[in-house]
Amino acid sequence: MCERNEVYKVFEVEKVFEEGSRVKTLVLNGKLEAKPGQFVMVWEPGVGERPFGVGAENPLAISIAKVGKVSAALHEKKQGDRVWIRGPYGNGFEIKGRNIACVAGGYGVSPIRFLAKKARETGAKACVFMGAKTKKELMLKPDCETTICTDDGTCGEKGFATQAFEKALKEKKFDAVYTCGPEKMMARVTEACLKNKVPCQASLDRFMKCGLGVCASCAVGELVVCRDGPVFDAQTLAKTKEFGKTFRDSSGKKIEI
Ligand SMILES: Cc1cc2nc3c(=O)[nH]c(=O)nc-3n(C[C@H](O)[C@H](O)[C@H](O)COP(=O)(O)OP(=O)(O)OC[C@H]3O[C@@H](n4cnc5c(N)ncnc54)[C@H](O)[C@@H]3O)c2cc1C
Repeated sequence: MCERNEVYKVFEVEKVFEEGSRVKTLVLNGKLEAKPGQFVMVWEPGVGERPFGVGAENPLAISIAKVGKVSAALHEKKQGDRVWIRGPYGNGFEIKGRNIACVAGGYGVSPIRFLAKKARETGAKACVFMGAKTKKELMLKPDCETTICTDDGTCGEKGFATQAFEKALKEKKFDAVYTCGPEKMMARVTEACLKNKVPCQASLDRFMKCGLGVCASCAVGELVVCRDGPVFDAQTLAKTKEFGKTFRDSSGKKIEI
């Protein structure tokens, strides 16, 4: 880290690498104490500020899918460029048990890699199921037992990560399950876990503005993702009418997922 003001910690980019065709990972020049599942607000002066999950804490790393103006600006970052960070925010995953399963899709693989590393450090065994539409979009796999799935079968098993996970759930006993990725995927995972009575935590990705629980743009029913989450257990999510069904756009309007 090179500077600190009252709100932002200013880092420099140490290394940039591509993960598949859509995501770039920025490795920064310092540490940020954080838990897997927590997020940081990244500010690009003159462009805007957006939330990104912590992919590693030492050095701090974030993986960014290019979808709009802030993420496009972050994709232009080169070694030595500055990155403004506030946080970490949110609750993060609670690692429970010795034998855990993780289901990840898209850039959700980044916090799950961090979680798998932390789990290993506590002596737990992590089994990851990760998916992407096609081989070109696959993120780097975690350093543990991993089942790779692609929708078109260009790498690993053909089909969704949820299918491979549901099959494993019938054959193995997991103490806890963790999921991060597209909401439809997480809804399937939480549903399967509730049915099989396995504790499950999911990290939600919603349109977020303040990151502090003030603006409620990231509301899911009564919950506010930035303040109450972004990690929720399956029982809590099952009680909301929105999880897995609707999303709110930047104006707060509900849109079907
Ligand atoms: C807790 C949390 C963790 C996140 N972690 C990551 C991460 O690790 N990596 C990553 O790439 N992204 C992550 N996101 C999503 C990321 O914040 C958005 O993709 C980002 O805000 C897009 O900003 P932009 O300026 O590039 O796009 P904009 O120009 O603001 O929008 C481009 C398009 O993306 C849509 N969009 C904006 N925000 C979101 C959102 N939160 N979810 C879905 N669609 C959105 C807009 O409606 C619009 O259609 C996370 C979001 C949350 C809430």
